[in-house]
Amino acid sequence: MIRVTELSKRYGELLALDRLDFELGRGEILGLLGPNGAGKTTTLRLLTGFMPPDAGQVTIDGTDLRDLGDGLRRRSGYLPESNPHYPELTVRGNLEFWAALYGLSDAGLGEAVERAVASCGLAGMEERPLRELSKGYRQRLGLAQALVHDPEIVFLDEPTAGLDPIHVRELREMIREFAGEKTVVLCTHVLSEVEAVCDRVLILARGRTVLQGTLDELGHRFGEAGAFELRAALPDPGGWEGAPGLRSATLAEGEDPHRWFVELEPDPEAPARLTAWLHERGGSLYELKPRGTGLEEVFLKVVGEELES
Ligand code: ATP
Repeated sequence: MIRVTELSKRYGELLALDRLDFELGRGEILGLLGPNGAGKTTTLRLLTGFMPPDAGQVTIDGTDLRDLGDGLRRRSGYLPESNPHYPELTVRGNLEFWAALYGLSDAGLGEAVERAVASCGLAGMEERPLRELSKGYRQRLGLAQALVHDPEIVFLDEPTAGLDPIHVRELREMIREFAGEKTVVLCTHVLSEVEAVCDRVLILARGRTVLQGTLDELGHRFGEAGAFELRAALPDPGGWEGAPGLRSATLAEGEDPHRWFVELEPDPEAPARLTAWLHERGGSLYELKPRGTGLEEVFLKVVGEELES
């Protein structure tokens, strides 16, 4: 749905974004990660048409952003880092204002506002002026404003920054609710947020892409070769004795007596040989998966390498 090709942006001498490339399918959520100054907000500004790139292209369903004109505004919603509200207007007043800006007609406008109020947990707050709202509710209003016209694409810049844990959890649940239906680019510093809601990750550092892929791909790519986690009933008697390709096996801590961490020989056939051996000896394999690495380790490693280079 979104295709970004060789997208670059300079601020004077500073190359803030250097040939960014990615594709995002309909209904996918991309987590855009990076340390301060990596170029995340710049990327969102380019993707929302807020600023033109110096080079490269963004297309949505094959159409260049520049040719979409007003269509982009109707099809996408943007929650910027500091969301642009009117403190004297009520929650409803703010949403009506934005719905009108997005081109909604009188008939559809009321319904759209009600839907955004309900989906962003603002019921009962409609007549409260914005200046009376806590930061958590202001952010919900920011999300409601980005969603009020039911866009296909949603851009979120640090949506949970500065919120307490309860609001963080609720906001993430709201994001998860529309996941799958809408295509989302979520910019954040919070790695657990990406693990909780995103399908894909793109890590930037100093404007350059240092890594991208699905969460599973990244975990496995950085996992130790040959390290697996499995659940199995072992042959009785004998246990692991004589198992082919097995270098070590350690029972995992916890309640489950069938969960093991094993290291196999670096042979692509090793998992299949081990599985066949287990079955031949009367054991059973319930689950076998490569042991990945958490996003935090991956992030620290790749960003650290880029910043040191
Ligand atoms: P943060 O996580 O701190 O918000 P970021 O990843 O969103 O950072 P950007 O805001 O995109 O990063 O900034 C990328 C680089 O461009 C930074 O070095 C920043 O100082 C610089 N920059 C951003 N906006 C401007 C601007 N309008 N004029 C000049 N430099 C800018």
